[in-house]
Amino acid sequence: MKKIAIKKLFFLSFVSLFLIGLALILFTVFFDQAVIARKDTVYHIPASEKVVALTFDDGPSPVWTPRILDVLKKAQVKATFFMLGEHAQRYPEVVRRLAEEGHEIGNHTFDHHTLIYYNASELKRELVDTEKVIRSITGQTTKYFRPPKAWLTEREKKQIKEMGYETVLWSLNSKDWVTFDDRYIVSYILRHVRPGDILLFHDSGGVFKPEGGKRKETVKAISLLIEKLRERGYRFVTISQLLELHEKNEK
Ligand SMILES: [Zn+2]
Repeated sequence: MKKIAIKKLFFLSFVSLFLIGLALILFTVFFDQAVIARKDTVYHIPASEKVVALTFDDGPSPVWTPRILDVLKKAQVKATFFMLGEHAQRYPEVVRRLAEEGHEIGNHTFDHHTLIYYNASELKRELVDTEKVIRSITGQTTKYFRPPKAWLTEREKKQIKEMGYETVLWSLNSKDWVTFDDRYIVSYILRHVRPGDILLFHDSGGVFKPEGGKRKETVKAISLLIEKLRERGYRFVTISQLLELHEKNEK
């Protein structure tokens, strides 16, 4: 009798752990914090023209960023890269190429820690240190900031604005970091895309850390996506161009 009770308990614990694990995985894959954090940020521009902005986070990567740049160059598309100061410092030649080929650069903090645990001076350091690295490599200053995983508080949004940055999130998340199949990523985007969307991709980063993941699916997905969106009459813009277009329409 006792043995059966232990077995039952063991089985129930196993099932509970499995369900908790499954719930956590589903939450991570399908929950998008950017939807909650949108207030006072740029995440989508109401556009009458068929335009979208491709954005890439967590890079540069010495392996995947050049491959993405090759695809963009061949297709004559300009994109926006929200990079980490730490990675920019490690791979300056990739940053230089990216800037020379006319892509836009945004700030994605120095080391990709979740900002909600930061005080004002720590947040300032994350932005300023990244800015210094980008400026020393490219001579450019960045105007746009994207918080890791879109986690940030209202106080931080205010501070970021006071520092002269625009916080940029996204309206369509490719979820490429989950390494879905490239055809799935493309069909998901084609089903949901609207003019003025900001699309989120990653040119570095893994599922649990900001570096070391494979971005093969991203490379394949953007190549196919550019082709399919062009067939539908879309053109590709950087974040600056998207905002300029919006300002023009507002006038
Ligand atoms: Zn990130």
